[in-house]
Amino acid sequence: MSSISPQILKKRKRHVLIALISIPSILLLFNLWGWSFYLQAKGFLDEELGKRLISIAAITSLQVSPELIKSIEERTIDDEQAFNFREYLATVNEENNLESVFIIDKEKNYILDAGYVHLEGEKYHCLNISDANRILDASLGKSSCSKLYRNGSQMFKTGFAPLKDASGEVIAILGVDASPEFLRALSNIQNTLIFFGIISLVLGVLYVLVLLAVINGFEAMFHAEKFASLGRLSAGMAHDIRNPLQIINTTYESLRKRYLPQDIEDEMFDYIPDEIKNLNKKINDFLSQTKDTPLKIKLNNLKVLLNHIIDRMSPDMERATIRFNNHIEPKINEFYFDAQQMEGVFQNLIRNAIEAMPDGGVITIKAYPYKGGKQFVAIEIADTGHGINKRDQKKLFEPFFTTKEHGYGLGMSIVFRIIQKHGGEIKVKSRPNQGTTFTILLPWKQEG
Ligand code: ADP
Ligand code: MG
Repeated sequence: MSSISPQILKKRKRHVLIALISIPSILLLFNLWGWSFYLQAKGFLDEELGKRLISIAAITSLQVSPELIKSIEERTIDDEQAFNFREYLATVNEENNLESVFIIDKEKNYILDAGYVHLEGEKYHCLNISDANRILDASLGKSSCSKLYRNGSQMFKTGFAPLKDASGEVIAILGVDASPEFLRALSNIQNTLIFFGIISLVLGVLYVLVLLAVINGFEAMFHAEKFASLGRLSAGMAHDIRNPLQIINTTYESLRKRYLPQDIEDEMFDYIPDEIKNLNKKINDFLSQTKDTPLKIKLNNLKVLLNHIIDRMSPDMERATIRFNNHIEPKINEFYFDAQQMEGVFQNLIRNAIEAMPDGGVITIKAYPYKGGKQFVAIEIADTGHGINKRDQKKLFEPFFTTKEHGYGLGMSIVFRIIQKHGGEIKVKSRPNQGTTFTILLPWKQEG
């Protein structure tokens, strides 16, 4: 991996976050703008079309004599008259680019439909309440029009005008339907906007998911980079300490040869090599923890490993009056993981749990198939200790984060890195003064 400084990674993360917010916002604004344009155009068209339909209905109604209506209703109209009247309505229909022209009585029964779609006597179906109200207006003598409304994939709008007799009394209502052709453009715009809305939503969601994955990738890189720096730093320190230790050792051997005859024992002399050994061991332990060694994945038994760790740590637990519960589902026996590195993980977590319960408590370990599936094994390590506050939970996996007087703050970052290398995840749930639960998800690889 190329060396990218944490600052650059943080900067990149910020850029990705800005992109994450800005592109969906642009998509949203674009959609809102489209809809506001559509609603404005629809309102304007609705109003203008309404005026036009009312005036067509009103002008046409003036050309229809009350006698003619009466003769149609009473079936006294002769064929020629009927033909001419229909021809007239058909011309109105055609010239004004309408869908249909019809006449209904005050009880809303068809008297005549110029388009022959509805039969005489058939009930006029109001498609919505506004339509019914407008008919009522017309039957009271006032021209009006229905609202623009959608029925199925089509849009409709109808103008109504009263037909009056000589005394001014309303005897029937003339209706003109706007052509769906005319309204299709509006309907098409609406469908296009809905389509764009859905596409934007899908693209927006995909975009956010991809960017979140990128951010996660950055975080993983960021952590790996920090960990690698830590490894380099400790290797450098170890080298610098080992060199003087080597010199002390050689000097010690020379001194011993010079000042202590072969047959005389002096334990004072043994302190030096013992402490050198001690220091070397400490350095080796530290190095083995911070060195980012590649995994050695083998078929291992989780239960055996956990029992082994618990056996080794039980004197510490007894001393701290800590009880231990353990439940590993039998299904989870052998699977592929690096036992040596996972041992480090469990040791770090159990040690932290012990340290979080200075007055004793309970540690519970559970292992089970994650969400009952076959992909991950979930391993929970829970304690009843002092817990971790929300602010500290965010820094928990950062190297050198510690709240302990003599802590190094390396355990949790080592745990995180090892689980990350396994392709797993670690989550924390904690409540101050109640306890902490770490849940590890490890890929449940049962075949090599
Ligand atoms: P250290 O143990 O040296 O402090 P770690 O990396 O192991 O470093 O842990 C970092 C910090 O996380 C601890 O100092 C402690 O504040 C917190 N922590 C970790 N595990 C627990 C736990 N089980 N309960 C409470 N706090 C915890
Ligand atoms: Mg620790």
